[in-house]
Amino acid sequence: MYRTNTCGELRLADKGKKVTLAGWVQKSRKLGGMTFIDLRDRYGVTQLVVEADAPAALVETATSLGREFVIQVTGEVVERESKNAKMPTGEIEIRLAGITILNKSVTPPFTIEEESDGGEDLRAKYRYLDLRRPPLQRALALRHRLAQEIRTYLDGEGFMEIETPYLIKSTPEGARDFVVPSRMNPGQFYALPQSPQTFKQLLMVAGYDRYFQIVRCFRDEDLRADRQPEFTQIDCEMSFVEQDDVLGMFEGMMRSMFKNALGVDIPNPLPRMSWYDAMDNYGSDKPDVRFGMTIHEITAQAHGHGFSVFDSCPYVGAIAVPGAAEYTRKQLDELTEWVKRPQVGAKGLVYVKVNPDGTYKSSVDKFFAEADLAAIAAACEAAPGDLLLVLCGEKRKTQTMLGVLRIYMGGRLGLRDPKVFAPLWIVDFPLLEWSEEDQRFYAMHHPFTAPKPEHEAWFYSDKKEDLERVCANAYDFVLNGTELGGGSIRIHDAAMQSRMFEVLGISKEDAEYKFGFIINAFKFGAPPHGGLAFGFDRVCALFGGQETIRDYIAFPKNNMGRDVMIDSPSFIDQSQLDELQLDIRQPEA
Ligand code: ASP
Repeated sequence: MYRTNTCGELRLADKGKKVTLAGWVQKSRKLGGMTFIDLRDRYGVTQLVVEADAPAALVETATSLGREFVIQVTGEVVERESKNAKMPTGEIEIRLAGITILNKSVTPPFTIEEESDGGEDLRAKYRYLDLRRPPLQRALALRHRLAQEIRTYLDGEGFMEIETPYLIKSTPEGARDFVVPSRMNPGQFYALPQSPQTFKQLLMVAGYDRYFQIVRCFRDEDLRADRQPEFTQIDCEMSFVEQDDVLGMFEGMMRSMFKNALGVDIPNPLPRMSWYDAMDNYGSDKPDVRFGMTIHEITAQAHGHGFSVFDSCPYVGAIAVPGAAEYTRKQLDELTEWVKRPQVGAKGLVYVKVNPDGTYKSSVDKFFAEADLAAIAAACEAAPGDLLLVLCGEKRKTQTMLGVLRIYMGGRLGLRDPKVFAPLWIVDFPLLEWSEEDQRFYAMHHPFTAPKPEHEAWFYSDKKEDLERVCANAYDFVLNGTELGGGSIRIHDAAMQSRMFEVLGISKEDAEYKFGFIINAFKFGAPPHGGLAFGFDRVCALFGGQETIRDYIAFPKNNMGRDVMIDSPSFIDQSQLDELQLDIRQPEA
């Protein structure tokens, strides 16, 4: 038997037991003739001790141990003289009778403890060593726990987990595909799924009315901190449902995940907010509702005072930052610079201080009398001591900038506590988005999303303004300013699906070539259906109170889409290229 116990298990109650442990040497130190060793496995750390009067061979072996050696030890559980309250095993140690070195280790490139001294790149290269550290162990354990919760909940609700293929054809999520050349079909390519969207809909046609899958998806997008080229979705679809049924089912799933993994109760039912309200009040379709500081439109109060910047803009809006009226000139200048950064994109920033003594001070005093500023403050529901930050321009663009500023100020004021969870649904998205650049509509979600039944007449209208006001029967699950998932009630009628492709300017031939199989399937008795998908990596990160998903993925890629541990992507042999009948052009410099 390699071990009787793990390194996280033994307590004072085990005193006197003879045990065998196995694990990695985290560190060892000599102290007054005794040797202390911290032995680690994924369950914890246990202190081992070799007494000064132990047999010479044992002392010698103990002294020879290097960091990350794998050893097996036998000994007796004894009470520690100096206890360590921070360690679960901190009241005991193992007085050793024997050590077997199972494997040696070269010196690891960084310390493998709670906090490491290794930089990100180095730790990525030796990911298998980084994974020995407790923070990563906790992250993967949380991921595992959540996956179990999901399966238990959905199984209990009659869902079947069904796998769908990875070598497929382009899916409709609108990102760039990763493609795989087919040796047996020279010149032809598979696409890796951006999601199992079309397959889960075909499963509904096939009658499997409650489907789910914890599944890998692939999107060849430029990467940000919270994006990976391959990521995992909790993908779900149901038949014979309306929006309320889907929302009820999956907030139930989230509720059980919060309860069972974190011991947190979330509201029942969850709040819902329309996309229009989210944009108007929060400047975002994924509002962080842990705090207020909402956006107020002050166009009426701002126009007509001779300030041409405001007068020339169709929209003027503001947020009221509590307690910030005391900001200094320097702080205000810094904020102005901040909103001018390309990531925000404002041209400038106007402020109004609502002083605690009832007076006002603003950067546009020349144009606005006290009473005008008071009217603006009233429109913003500002309190004495608030600082109003004002931006103007095109409506949605300006709201979005105010939304970014709101999140920034919320962070500065400490209002974005990762231990507070404020989930909600965003509903009633526009179905279509007009692109000025391409002079065509794009599907805001994807082209299989149905219009809301009460807007169907507009959907068949030829007028642009009618099409623009059609709401989608779609919904997003948002938590703390992050979109964790989304989905929709689908089109299940071949004629309506064809109309959708027509509205999107996709020719009949093109629709037939790309999606003919699904339009055809809809002719064979497709049931009404709908579903959604959650981004599982993000769910894990937010449940763990972190912003980035990388720690929650065992083997993630870096910002350039590279796995630096296995050094991929990499070049392939000429013989492989020949087999695939592919020629590589010299990469451009
Ligand atoms: N396939 C969609 C996505 O990946 C989710 C859904 O509509 O179910 O965003």
